[in-house]
Amino acid sequence: MPKDSRPSRYDVLFEPVRIGPKLAKNRFFQVPHCNGGGYRDPSAVVEMRRTKAEGGWGVIFTEQTEIHHTSEITPFIEQRLWDDRDIPALARMAEAMKSHGALAGIQMAYSGINGPNLYSREVPRAVSPGPILTFTADPVQARALDRDGIRDLRRWYRNAFRRAQDAGFDIVCLYGAHGFGILQHFLSRATNQRSDEYGGSLDNRARFVTEMIDEAREETKGEMAISIRMSLHEDGPLGFSNAEVREFIEMKADLPDLWDLAQGTWDACSGTSRFKDEGAQEALVRGIKALTSKPVVGVGRFTSPDAMVRQVREGVLDFIGAARPSIADPFLPQKIEQGRFEDIRECIGCNICVSGDMTGAISRCTQNPTFMEEWRKGWHPERVAPRGKSKRVLIVGGGPAGLEAALVLGKRGYEVALAEAGTALGGRVSRERALPGLSAWGRVADYRAGQIAPLPNVSVYFESRLSASDVLDFGFQHVAVATGAVWRRDVVARHHLGPIPQTGVQVFTPDDLMAGQGPSGGTVLLYDDDHFYMGSVLAELLVARGCRVEFVTPAAKVAEWTENTLEQRLIQSRLMSLGVTLHLSQAPQTLGPGGARIACTYTGNGRDIAADAVVLVTSRIAADSLGPDLAARRADWASAGIASVTVIGDADAPAPIAWAVYAGRRYGEELDARDTGDALPFRREIAELLGAPETHNS
Ligand code: ADP
Ligand code: SF4
Repeated sequence: MPKDSRPSRYDVLFEPVRIGPKLAKNRFFQVPHCNGGGYRDPSAVVEMRRTKAEGGWGVIFTEQTEIHHTSEITPFIEQRLWDDRDIPALARMAEAMKSHGALAGIQMAYSGINGPNLYSREVPRAVSPGPILTFTADPVQARALDRDGIRDLRRWYRNAFRRAQDAGFDIVCLYGAHGFGILQHFLSRATNQRSDEYGGSLDNRARFVTEMIDEAREETKGEMAISIRMSLHEDGPLGFSNAEVREFIEMKADLPDLWDLAQGTWDACSGTSRFKDEGAQEALVRGIKALTSKPVVGVGRFTSPDAMVRQVREGVLDFIGAARPSIADPFLPQKIEQGRFEDIRECIGCNICVSGDMTGAISRCTQNPTFMEEWRKGWHPERVAPRGKSKRVLIVGGGPAGLEAALVLGKRGYEVALAEAGTALGGRVSRERALPGLSAWGRVADYRAGQIAPLPNVSVYFESRLSASDVLDFGFQHVAVATGAVWRRDVVARHHLGPIPQTGVQVFTPDDLMAGQGPSGGTVLLYDDDHFYMGSVLAELLVARGCRVEFVTPAAKVAEWTENTLEQRLIQSRLMSLGVTLHLSQAPQTLGPGGARIACTYTGNGRDIAADAVVLVTSRIAADSLGPDLAARRADWASAGIASVTVIGDADAPAPIAWAVYAGRRYGEELDARDTGDALPFRREIAELLGAPETHNS
């Protein structure tokens, strides 16, 4: 790899750094991150981590690994190291992580007050008794660990250390951060109300952590590096504050081989770009390095090499920790190493990846559609298969779906024509990036436009709104229709499956507002039956335009799906602080002159709301009829030389941007290789059945 192709100021990122008995080859540290696959999809996770190894990360971690069945976090799917039978899958993971010289790390968790044990049915054990603290408010409480319980727990950790070493890992991370790990539960007064030697003073609260690190060293004979992952700051009068974190680190300066620091709760740590900038945790972590001789890793959605260099040069961090940037671009280190900065696929900070974990699905990434498809579909973020038997493809529409399809097909060697009705690439992204807080989303378009530009076999035609006749006249072998969707101008979505009376009041859609139309004053009723980001973003836009906003939604909270992107609380708080009036569990019955009549979705009780205009954020429909028009003229395809017409992305069925990028990728990957659709289009692992089949002869 040519090291002189990058400016020398980035060399510092490629210095080896010692972590106890191990040496990391550079400062790129993939911190633990969930992926929605975990124990259910072991090979998918293994190949995902192998791709990061290939991409040049110096340290690569597993996701949260439950060390014992008495503390598990069903329905969330992470890793398990409950007994020896879990070793083979994790050994394969360690081998993949080390395949290109990275150190392999395992993050060990005992979830305590965070583990409801819905699967194992064990009574949860925690530092102090109390209701389980999760996203799902399970009606379950934990009992306190007594002396025997603590002795058991220490033994279970020891078993896990031994198993991790047997599996071939280099580093054990003791997970405390985000309110998810029992080490932090011991440290924090909020979760530790004990009156024995494990509670009270900081010295006492630090006892369990100290014991565990000593025992980890002893059990692994000093051969593994031991790190601890802690929250940088917990809110609240009882929380483990940043000041106390510093006191603890000063007190135990050289206890672990590495300090892995992450802000407060998961929501606070993994903020979206709408709410958090790159490097947002700097103030909380700055100065901690001076308290210890051990290396410090921190996170901050780092994608800018200059920001990384500054953090290292100024002595803030030793390692650049990254979860989401490593998902969006597993080859981030290699691209920096080779000075290929323009090729970096920057994370947009949308947290769609997090939503995969939150919904128990497999995670996907808006920027990197190959994430978690490395094994399932054999996709690779940097490589594509060579061109198949056909040659020429027309893609209609330059939004996320069309752009991704053009990029993949261009890299595969097809002759690609991309026709775009407008004057810019990006489709919905080119409009949404101008909305409050969404500018980083423009990276979806910028990255792809930048990658397509140098490809001689991809031609982009602007101001080319194509009709079915145009497409037939061109006669490309394959046509992808990626013409996107528009917002509906009526209330039809989830709550209303049909229209309601809607006369005598000005009604606007998100498309209107994004085009600069719509109210710029007065009272606006915004009806949100979409439940993702758009309603709240437009409420912000309307407030900025000087409007008074009456926010009506049939849900019990604002933007309820954003629970899955860790934004819901932030969004609702922001609207409340902007003075937006919230009408929750309400939906319009009629829209008419002077406003609307709305009714409670539980009781049906109605009331009138005065408004000068209405904005409907409901659902979307295909933007034009190109797909159906071409389907209707199927008889003409052969004479035009057309073998296939495929509708992809939002034109096919509207969904978040990540879905459109995935659709474009899939079209590009599968052209000339598509089967009939009868076979499962991805690999999966089926559990082996244990024991002899039972016979029922009663
Ligand atoms: P997706 O998310 O599926 O990629 P978008 O709505 O973001 O969809 O993008 C669709 C793009 O297609 C827009 O840039 C739009 O201008 C363009 N488009 C729509 N209809 C046509 C057409 N008939 N011919 C060419 N381009 C079109
Ligand atoms: Fe970043 Fe969004 Fe991809 Fe997550 S899904 S890694 S936040 S671009």
